[in-house]
Amino acid sequence: MTTTTKTTQSHYLMELEDRYGAHNYHPLPVVLSKGKGVFLWDVDGKKYYDFLSAYSAVNQGHCHPRITQTMIDQAQTLTLTSRAFYNDKLGECEKFLCEYFGYDKVLMMNSGAEANETAIKLVRKWGYEKKGIPTNQAVIVAVERNFHGRTTTIISASTDKGATNNFGPYMQGFQIIPYDDVTALEAALKNPNVAGFWVEPIQGEAGVYSPQEGYLKKAQELCKKYNVILMMDEIQTGIGRTGKLLASDHEGVHPDLLILGKALSGGFYPVSAVLTSDEVMLTIRPGQHGSTFGGNPMACAVAMTALQVIKDENLIENAAKMGEIFRQRMRNLMTKTNLLTLVRGKGLLNAIVINDSPDSETAWNICVKFAENGLLAKPTHGNIIRLAPPLVITEEQVHECADIIEKVILNYKLG
Ligand code: PLP
Repeated sequence: MTTTTKTTQSHYLMELEDRYGAHNYHPLPVVLSKGKGVFLWDVDGKKYYDFLSAYSAVNQGHCHPRITQTMIDQAQTLTLTSRAFYNDKLGECEKFLCEYFGYDKVLMMNSGAEANETAIKLVRKWGYEKKGIPTNQAVIVAVERNFHGRTTTIISASTDKGATNNFGPYMQGFQIIPYDDVTALEAALKNPNVAGFWVEPIQGEAGVYSPQEGYLKKAQELCKKYNVILMMDEIQTGIGRTGKLLASDHEGVHPDLLILGKALSGGFYPVSAVLTSDEVMLTIRPGQHGSTFGGNPMACAVAMTALQVIKDENLIENAAKMGEIFRQRMRNLMTKTNLLTLVRGKGLLNAIVINDSPDSETAWNICVKFAENGLLAKPTHGNIIRLAPPLVITEEQVHECADIIEKVILNYKLG
């Protein structure tokens, strides 16, 4: 496996993580200590383009000055009250989120996994109390290759062996169908005990798979027909990433329930949210769900600024435009090499597929080479490399990054 030459300091810091931290990740051998906009710096002062954006949490760019200022101001004023009392930011932020995304109500949490857990609870509660599903019979339909987080309930709907093996027993009440298959969806939704259809509009973690045009629209129609809640997990695809505010907007779909996280705070703070109708949200009553940190003043202040930045800096339009240019460069590169078999994605959520076995280390080794040349990206599954820079990237920077990728790919020798 290819590694980069490391200084004593970065070695020491990597060893600390290895010695004292859980081995639940496999990081690229780069130790980062600073970020600004599209750039990251390691402890040796080497500068990189960030082509991961903390799995699309840093859409607004690293350490955005306006979000930084909001965070400092709020940290000096009020950080946490718990929900035992009202605070002067939560209501304001809830109104802001509902108007921004077009929903009646919002429930704020912290991590993406928690938002998905919240969505499952809401949909089940609605299923029993509004749809009339018999007690403990509710089913949520999920799809193959999904990624919604790492809790025991969420992995119960996962088809990824790495995520599930030896973590059982699993939670009941999920039915898994193929992604992008409306026939399978309709067959599943005919079961009157189905309360929700839970889906990502583009499967980011699985390797940036977009469904065929019309799938989401059809899914919405079917959910309506069978009185099922369309639960859209836009944690990775939302907030400008794909060149629309939400990836669902590419098909003009307004999900019954929207799940957000990551870029909701611009990467400053764990903030997630579930947005839905009064009918669904009001099925949960005091004492039935919550989190000490969910909806705290700091999260609220940061989220409002982070979302305002998306609009004020036209980051959605920029993602659409830069994404086109980037994919064009990658398509052009494909004409010069056999090492790339595919480029796919929307806006600035893209992936390239490397022409080698998914079990090979080629994609990893290429990412190490990217890093040596000043660009940070990581394989997602097997031979797929996700390429997702902050949305503040300029055209000149897109070309510079495409040049780096081209240079590495054209010089790469398969072992
Ligand atoms: N849902 C999707 C679509 C994601 O991409 C992720 C994270 O990558 C999650 C949920 C989980 O979010 P978190 O890691 O904040 O729990």
